[in-house]
Amino acid sequence: MKQDYDFSSSDSQSIFDKDSKYVMQTYGRQPIVLSSGNGSIVYDMEGREYIDCVAGIAVTNVGHCHPHLVKAIKDQAEKLMHVSNIYYTEAQAELAEELVNLTGMDRVFFCNSGTEAVESAMKLARVNTKKTNFIAVEHSFHGRTMGALSMTYKDMYRAPFKPLIQEEMFVPFNDAQAISDAITPNTAAVMVEPIQGEGGINVSSETYLKEVRKICDENETLLIFDEVQTGFGRTGEWFCKDHFGVEPDIMTMAKAMGGGFPMGAIAAREGISFARGEHAATFGGNPLACAAALASIEIIQKENLIQRSKEIGKYFHNELAGLSTEGLIEVRGKGLMLGVQFDRKCADIVEHGRRNGILLNCTSETVLRIAPPLVITKEQIDQVVSVLEQA
Ligand code: PLP
Repeated sequence: MKQDYDFSSSDSQSIFDKDSKYVMQTYGRQPIVLSSGNGSIVYDMEGREYIDCVAGIAVTNVGHCHPHLVKAIKDQAEKLMHVSNIYYTEAQAELAEELVNLTGMDRVFFCNSGTEAVESAMKLARVNTKKTNFIAVEHSFHGRTMGALSMTYKDMYRAPFKPLIQEEMFVPFNDAQAISDAITPNTAAVMVEPIQGEGGINVSSETYLKEVRKICDENETLLIFDEVQTGFGRTGEWFCKDHFGVEPDIMTMAKAMGGGFPMGAIAAREGISFARGEHAATFGGNPLACAAALASIEIIQKENLIQRSKEIGKYFHNELAGLSTEGLIEVRGKGLMLGVQFDRKCADIVEHGRRNGILLNCTSETVLRIAPPLVITKEQIDQVVSVLEQA
């Protein structure tokens, strides 16, 4: 077990200095410079080793620097990195077919990030319904661009950028009646994360999404699932919707899609699509990103990571629930998307973890978010739990 790293003689200081001088200070960063990784482990500049329970915030599902992913990116980079979407590429067509099969949707549109996927979903909803308004859920997080920000609940994120595209759009989570009450003939879509990530790992109840589906159908309103954080095996299914047996009209994807390579997409059911010229993205679905996504999907399939996420997630969940750490209220989540709710802020636990070789992240101030690569081992989980036990 790694114990109390000594950060006093750090070589990283010059990087901190450059960052503070040259980078807009938008992030509250942990004071380490990460320089390499392998599986569930990352290393800092001084060679200290950490078990990564953050995974780039639910991005590196297949583990850091998986050799198959690295090779696929290298091979594609040597062949062709980028061409305009005014041409076809093999990688994009192959990935589109794969995603349609995995999601059960009809067609996809490619973009580059989660917030861009949300923007795309909103535009698609507006253009297909000819309605303008949206309903989102309290404690939602959908991104930071102006449309996605409008759907994001936290006032701290919204307030400096008003006017947004719509105010007064939020209803309580897991309350279908509230959606029924809020819906109007001008509601283009309802957007829900099946498990809220940034909002504190809040899981939809068994019936909620089914009821929302019914309400949307009755009101000719589209249902959008934001699967940016929950996708690609994170929760123990390919997509979180599969736990609930509910199909949206549109779904968003990003984060783990490219295994660490930036990529996003939306998928929509038959009959919902953009017409020529209605939407575009220069880099959307470029061959390098698509090769990375195809390789990531292949790894998830070949290494059975969906099942692994389910099984080892259950083990992690049980071990966390057995902790006697002061102030722990409950553990919730699915697969390897777990939240440990405390009755207090948990920044000190994140710090304790870092000093003992574990990377952790706190969301919604009082929830420790546990989202390691899906390849994390039982032994690594035991180490994490043992460090948390001392916290
Ligand atoms: N939607 C959800 C559910 C997210 O969790 C996030 C990011 O955390 C986003 C959208 C925005 O994604 P990105 O940061 O790639 O823009």
